[in-house]
Formats: sequence, structure tokens, C-alpha cells
Amino acid sequence: MIVVMRPQALPAEIDGVCDLIRSQGLEAFVSEGQERVIIGVVGRDIESVAHIGTLPGVEQALRVTHPYKLASLEHHPDRTRITIGDVPIGVGAPLVIMAGPCSVESRDQLLTTARCVRREGATVLRGGAFKPRTSPYTFQGLGDDALDLLAQAREETGMPVVTELTDAAQIETFDRRVDLIQVGSRNMHNFALLRALGQTRKPVLLKRGFGSTIEEWLLAAEYILAAGNSNVIMCERGIRTFERATRNTLDLSAVPVLRELTHLPIVIDPSHGTGRRALVGPMALAAAAVGADGLLIEVHPDPPRALSDGDQSLSFPEFGALMDELRRLEFMRATDPLPTKASLPPAGVAGERERIDAIDVELVRLLEERGRLALSIQASKGFDAHGHDVERERALVRRALDGATGVMDEDELRTVLAAVIRASRAMQRRHAAA
Ligand code: PEP
Ligand code: MN
Repeated sequence: MIVVMRPQALPAEIDGVCDLIRSQGLEAFVSEGQERVIIGVVGRDIESVAHIGTLPGVEQALRVTHPYKLASLEHHPDRTRITIGDVPIGVGAPLVIMAGPCSVESRDQLLTTARCVRREGATVLRGGAFKPRTSPYTFQGLGDDALDLLAQAREETGMPVVTELTDAAQIETFDRRVDLIQVGSRNMHNFALLRALGQTRKPVLLKRGFGSTIEEWLLAAEYILAAGNSNVIMCERGIRTFERATRNTLDLSAVPVLRELTHLPIVIDPSHGTGRRALVGPMALAAAAVGADGLLIEVHPDPPRALSDGDQSLSFPEFGALMDELRRLEFMRATDPLPTKASLPPAGVAGERERIDAIDVELVRLLEERGRLALSIQASKGFDAHGHDVERERALVRRALDGATGVMDEDELRTVLAAVIRASRAMQRRHAAA
């Protein structure tokens, strides 16, 4: 901290400031300029002199370090990777799509949505059970029944679930039943709740308060971290500004700003961030482009009939189109895959050759299996119909490229896949003719 004294400050006032600093076990470095005195404060517990700016003779006190520590990049220079159920998010992991309804409304609504978003490529299912609504007269969520339905959806689809917690008394239940605990925008300042979340090790999705600065939001994260839970994910969901064309103003600059300040993963919620269905896709793409680690997107089987946030919920085809676009723009791949044990070859050239031979044998086995499946599909369609489907083949190439790690460039991979498809068609023709 740097304390700037007024030009007219008396020697006794300067001594008073230095005495306070030293009484707190900190060091004071006084430098006397032509016009005024400046005092540098050094030590661990700068907070203990946070009120120094109010002392007589002081013009201003300037902080030079962040008030949060555990959340800061200075404290933790390697970016954090967290797992939600078995889904990694953060450095090196592919973009995580969390999708589902604003509120869980019924078994059918949740399960059809879960199946749709899973099929389209989402890996985490969202669904509000306890809804912190602005009006007490609107739908408040199905509560515990919604948690049961989320558990069923997880069981059926294998997707981990995220839902909002509104009361510290729910922590024990959420710890058992939920994979990612959401703290809503309205609760970002509920410090008792944040502190209580230090009791669990479950990841917490901390939404930004709609009237909060990035520093306040990071201090909210600090509450959870300092209470013992290191699994915090930051979620930007729009802030309240004078603008009325959108429900909130989605602060996408929060992504690069947070990247400079914190190691924690960052998620963008373009649904609450805009409040309008037509804007969700463009802002989701922009969020991916600016480097978000994940997206939180509201999807509903019949948005006009949704019990909450229908205006900003995507229909199934709209969500599918967004996922196609995210893939087309290559946002769905890992940025820095961490090598897994299985992909590491045995040491030495001999070991590497041995592994290549094994891969070739496995490739032939996989191609044979693929061929048998293609023939079976063709047989089920009747031998006078085409066994292949050009649209599906294009989608297949796109999907296959998603899994690529960059060792082979896109042209090389396309060449290999095109050869596989050509051989598959030739085989289908030969069997159809036979
Ligand atoms: C939500 O995600 O359903 C929600 C209520 O969000 P927020 O807290 O950002 O308003
Ligand atoms: Mn909502």
C-alpha cells in the first residue's frame, strides 16, 4: 500500500501514520518529496491498516496488491482444472456445454431436454429446483421433487447435473445429490452461504451478482476458497446497466479480465446475459471465441410454455444449430490435451514401433467392425436403397475432427476419413450387387 500525505501534513500527522503502521507489525518507508511525503507500507496483513486513508493529514491510500489471495493468479500461477462428475473444465479441457431448462417442471420436460442436449453434445445438465424468483407470485421451482428428477436424468443420461442452492441448510443434500452447486446472482453477496459452501468439496458455480464488480465477485469466490473448498468456477451472467434492449448487459470482457486476475475456470451464461433467444447463439459463439471454459444455456422443449425464462430459452432445433456452429468454428476441441497414460508409448524407438504395430492391428479391427455395421444398416434399408447418407457422412467427418488433437492437420485427417468412407461405399455396392 502507498499512503500519500497532504502537502500541508504536519510532522505529528506523518508520525501518527507511521506509528499505526508499525503497531500492526508492518513496515513504513517514508520518502520526503519537494511537496509532500509518501509512505510505503509493506507486510503480510495490509488489511489491518485498511482504514489508514481516514487518518488526519492523509490524502489517499492506494492498494498495490489484490484484496483476494487464494483466487488470484499471483498466488496460483497455474490455471485450475476442475471436474464436474467426470467432466473436466478449465485449462486444457474442451469447452464444456451445460444445458437444460431454467426450471425443472416435470419428468417428461426434464428427460426429453436431457436426451436432446446430450445428443447434441452438452456434457452437463442444468435445471433449477429451488428458484430465487424476483416475484413471490411466480413459479418457485419443484424443490426436492426436482432433485429426484435430476437424479433420474443423471442416471439415464450419465450427465452430471448443476442446480442452484438457495439456503445453507440444503448443503448436505446437495453434497449427496448434485454434481455442481450453483450460487445464483442474487446470492453472490450471501457471505454466510458462501462460507458454508467451504464445508463441501463439490464444485461451486459462482454467478456474478448483477450489480457487482469483478473484484467483489472474486472476493465472493475467496470466501468459498478460504473456507476450504478449492473447486470454484466463475460464471458471468450479465450485469444491470442503463441498457433496456437486453435483460442484462453480458460482460464478455470479464473473460480476459479474469484471465489476468485468477486461475479459476470461467463460464458464460448467454441466456440470462441477454434475456432474448435470438441473442443467445451469437453471444455463446462470442464467449467461446473470447476463451470461456464453458457455457450455461437454457433449453426447453416448448419455450413459449416454459414456467420460467421462456423468452431466453432455446428450442431443441435452435440448440442443435448452435452446437453445429460451435463445432463448425472448431470451439469444441481441447486446447491443450494432457497426455493420458494409455496414449504414452513405451519408452524407446522399439517401444514406439511396437505401439504403432498394435495401433494398425486395432485400426483394421475397427474398420472391419465399421464395415459390418454399414452393411447391416444397408440391409435394413433394402438393397435397392443407398446405404449411405451424405448429410450423415459430412456430420461424421465434423464429429471425428472434433476429437483431433492437432498432431495431424485437418487436411490429413479429412483425407483419411474420405478414404474410409469411399471404401465403405465400395464395399456396400459390392455386397448389394452380390
Ligand atoms: C439460473 O441460472 O437459473 C438463474 C436464476 O440465474 P441467475 O442467478 O444468474 O439469475
Ligand atoms: Mn433462468
